[in-house]
Amino acid sequence: MMKLTFLMILAMFIAPLSSASDQLPIEIHDRVVLQPDSDKKVALTLDACSGKFDDDLIEYLIRHQIPATIFATKKWLLKNPQGVSIIKAHLDLFDVEDHGEKHIPAIIGTDRKVYGISGEPDIIHLRREVIEGARAVEKATGIAPHWYRAATAEYDPLAIEEIDKLGYKIAGFSVNADAGATSKKITIEKRLAHVKAGDVIIAHMNKPASDTAEGLAVGLDYLTKAGFVFVRLDQVELKVINKKTH
Ligand SMILES: [Zn+2]
Repeated sequence: MMKLTFLMILAMFIAPLSSASDQLPIEIHDRVVLQPDSDKKVALTLDACSGKFDDDLIEYLIRHQIPATIFATKKWLLKNPQGVSIIKAHLDLFDVEDHGEKHIPAIIGTDRKVYGISGEPDIIHLRREVIEGARAVEKATGIAPHWYRAATAEYDPLAIEEIDKLGYKIAGFSVNADAGATSKKITIEKRLAHVKAGDVIIAHMNKPASDTAEGLAVGLDYLTKAGFVFVRLDQVELKVINKKTH
């Protein structure tokens, strides 16, 4: 009885300590590797989580010939055939990469949540999320993806290892332009006004009712006039600048 009580007390102290340090999701911040002679490269990345197709945003990019990398889920690709056909007609501008099958964060534990979305039950499900997402992108565009960005862009260390083993490079970001398509137009404009060479901008193309297209249009006009050159992730490498835990 005495022993059991002692072990129980010990477990109460140890368990929270080990789970807290092992299970904090990591947000990866990275930047484009710049060549000395072309130091004004920036990458625009757009997530297509679930939801709809922001045609105002994609039309703006086509009209201004601004390349972007789209991270699409299988869920989004199946729901938006018209959007997919527009993207497919402009694969010179758009690189489509893997955002997973069902938009589940790369954290293990269904009791754990990132921005209100539950994690995976186990590593097998994580593997499926990555592989089925990649298959869906290849089926829709004819091009196999090489980059992965998990739902919410948060990862467990174990998930990072697994995604790497599957052969995918993880795409982080350095400028959060629209906070999951929740930011106001003026906020998005201000964030883009602070972009520097090498930045990887993240925004969303799945919420047409948001201010994202309007805010990006002003911000991207400014960046183009300032001489920035937009690159896609299939044309560059990224380097990790820091890993932030939540
Ligand atoms: Zn997403």
